[in-house]
Amino acid sequence: MAFEGLAQRLQGTLQKITGKGKISEADVKEMMREVRFALIEADVNLKVVKTFVKTVSERAIGQDVMKSLTPGQQVVKIVKDELTNLMGGEQNPIQFSRKSPTVIMMVGLQGAGKTTSSGKLATVLRKRHNKNPLLVAADVYRPAAIQQLETLGKQLTVPVFSLGTDISPVEIVRQALEKAEKEHHDVVLIDTAGRLHIDEVLMQELKDIRELATPEEVFLVVDAMTGQDAVNVAQNFDDAVGITGVILTKLDGDTRGGAALSIRTVTEKPIKFVGMGEKMDALEPFHPERMASRILG
Ligand code: GDP
Repeated sequence: MAFEGLAQRLQGTLQKITGKGKISEADVKEMMREVRFALIEADVNLKVVKTFVKTVSERAIGQDVMKSLTPGQQVVKIVKDELTNLMGGEQNPIQFSRKSPTVIMMVGLQGAGKTTSSGKLATVLRKRHNKNPLLVAADVYRPAAIQQLETLGKQLTVPVFSLGTDISPVEIVRQALEKAEKEHHDVVLIDTAGRLHIDEVLMQELKDIRELATPEEVFLVVDAMTGQDAVNVAQNFDDAVGITGVILTKLDGDTRGGAALSIRTVTEKPIKFVGMGEKMDALEPFHPERMASRILG
């Protein structure tokens, strides 16, 4: 299960303080030392850990907490609040443009789960938002990627626009937008090419598509299992192309949690969805508070 180690350690640490009728500054310091280790072990970005520990410590050592009747519980609440803040506070819904169609670009490295997430998102758009999406296969470097999207489209009965691999992705997107207009698709979901590494050609291509399609959302798909690498990838994509949100996949695996806890603070971009499995219904809106509750038990 995701976050298992972190959950165990944090719960153990917080239990020690919950029952206490009185707590001292030294108790808080000792607790925060353990919290810090737990976060570092969960592969949370070091800067994020530092800021988190500082904020929680300052709030916990405050007079109103120390003097309250249930200081231990107050401290636990502060940890939960700040863990929620770390992950972005509120849930962040999909933004739709005022003028139809809303364009959503899916970007990310190969293997992160971009194509799978495009299919899942098409399902969410249709079922939860009552939309009529058009999927666009713009990965011209891997014929298999186009096929994969077409298969998903058939399975979901969502139309897929593709023009093969001999045509530029920008041209594919241009024609897809025309088709969407003609056939009244209110969302155009573009599955762009993924590469093994971030390179300039990929970034330029994404910028070109972005310029043409003026997407309301640019979702970066990253694999939660890759920990801090996912955070670096997010930072790089945001710097180069500009992203509006993150889809964090494979949270059903046994990730330590570092990416989920760091991405928001490092990139200032919200995690909007999490992938919870390979099936097409396994995409969930990301709720920071629920996730914090899950971690703290
Ligand atoms: P792409 O190269 O980024 O388009 O990646 P794919 O969509 O082809 O996904 C790569 C692999 O990850 C596939 O085997 C997917 O089934 C799997 N995958 C994607 N999302 C998830 C997820 O949320 N959980 C799990 N367990 N597997 C996932």
